[in-house]
Amino acid sequence: MSLSTHNVPKLKDPSLLKEAAFINGQFITSPSFTTFTVTDPATNTPIATIPDLTAAETRTAITAAHTALQTFRHTLPRERARLLRAWYDQIIANADDLATLITLENGKPTADARGEVAYAASFLEWFSEEAPRLYGDTIPSSVRGNRVVTIRQPVGVCALITPWNFPAAMITRKIGPAIAAGCTVVAKAPAETPLTSLALAELAVRAGMPKGVVNIVTASANTAAVGEELCVNPVVKKLSFTGSTPVGKLLMKQCAGTLKKLSFELGGNAPFIVFDDANVDAAVAGAIGCKFRSSGQTCVCANRIYVQDAIHDEFVAKLVEKVRAFKVGSGFDGENTHGPLIHDRAVGKAREHVDDAVEKGAEAVVGGGVSQLGPNFFEPTVLKGLTGDMRIASEETFGPVAGVFRFKTEKEVVELANDTEVGLAGYFFSSDIGRIWRVAEALEVGMVGVNTGIISDTAAPFGGIKESGFGREGSKYGIDEYTVIKSITFGGV
Ligand code: NAD
Repeated sequence: MSLSTHNVPKLKDPSLLKEAAFINGQFITSPSFTTFTVTDPATNTPIATIPDLTAAETRTAITAAHTALQTFRHTLPRERARLLRAWYDQIIANADDLATLITLENGKPTADARGEVAYAASFLEWFSEEAPRLYGDTIPSSVRGNRVVTIRQPVGVCALITPWNFPAAMITRKIGPAIAAGCTVVAKAPAETPLTSLALAELAVRAGMPKGVVNIVTASANTAAVGEELCVNPVVKKLSFTGSTPVGKLLMKQCAGTLKKLSFELGGNAPFIVFDDANVDAAVAGAIGCKFRSSGQTCVCANRIYVQDAIHDEFVAKLVEKVRAFKVGSGFDGENTHGPLIHDRAVGKAREHVDDAVEKGAEAVVGGGVSQLGPNFFEPTVLKGLTGDMRIASEETFGPVAGVFRFKTEKEVVELANDTEVGLAGYFFSSDIGRIWRVAEALEVGMVGVNTGIISDTAAPFGGIKESGFGREGSKYGIDEYTVIKSITFGGV
């Protein structure tokens, strides 16, 4: 294994690479700004220098969004639909360059990056279709002579904070419904992967986005100050955050003073259950997609794999065979199925979880350590013999480590699956229709995959329960997060 094939393609349109923040329709750079460096996770080499904005510049962005809102909230839904559709078209037309930027700053293989671009664009397409369907109700009043109707209005200026694991899709999943509802936004780009957000902003300009409607603030060392400004500024009426549960809790506290409307997509610890009546090959394929997509750096990825006694050994053997066939290396080499993790801290966490499990009696059947490719690469790993006292049982690994637990009964495994503070996604494989209903209803999560390891779908509501947060993204529900219901009562009828 070597990184000799790490050949970064040139962008077809180099003007998509922006080393700036985007405020009030302008890409801004200034010698007076402090800056931070974005690095290529495959090689740790610098790729861009980006302004590390402060609370003061964040206020400027919020003011721009507030000014733009005064006009934008009155645009016709059909106009907003056309705008989103034009932005979608721009993304599709520039998909190759966007995929290159994603691989460059996130590390995922280009094929996965292309898949992400299509997924990201699909949210703009979907919400372009939802914008004209913001219906209200007519409600029979309980007061004689009155009539009641409801209308749905934009909530106002929205603050959006997203993580690095899906640099394009996390942001369009929030901006799409916000724009469809008639809101304006200030999005904080992830420090590790701001280039994709900024390229999307350039494509928004080309699509005709009015100035101030979309603003992108960038920060690294100043992240907490920028985040606090977004939370405490009374002009901002809504915060939508995707990231870790501890940061979500902090932001919720900071928003309390202005009682903002909130939605939180936070961490997961997904159970993946294989019953002995399942199709084992399908379950293995599901586990591969679910656990190892983006090298395990997805919030919905399987973190605890529970396999019933009778098929345990067959499942592990087939899983190991597939994992051994992975090719790890540069995301720009089309042969490779898996790239680097985002940084050495992510590698450190994967290593700690594996070491902890092995010390307590688990066996690493394949992988188990840092790869020779470099400090940000971790070997795809399958552990067997996991028990409830190991860290993987209760903590999200966020890396390419599949930990397999053995179980005996349905009752036992449902209890184990639910024995966690978080509840984002859960998966199981079974061919028993009664069990399928029972277990789907019993799992304490916001999303269940039955006989599939992939549940991300623009049409399906995405979100969690418990400490995985609240609110739903995508689907017909996603736009609700960006609207408020106003009831209007007509008297004297
Ligand atoms: P993180 O919470 O550290 O960071 C997420 C975002 O918040 C980044 O943009 C970061 O810059 C920003 N941030 C960090 N501290 C902040 C602060 N004090 N104020 C304002 N912003 C702040 O999470 P991460 O480690 O980068 O991402 C991985 C986590 O995100 C995992 O826990 C994963 O499960 C979760 N995640 C959840 C979903 C979902 O939809 N539920 C999707 C992807 C990732």
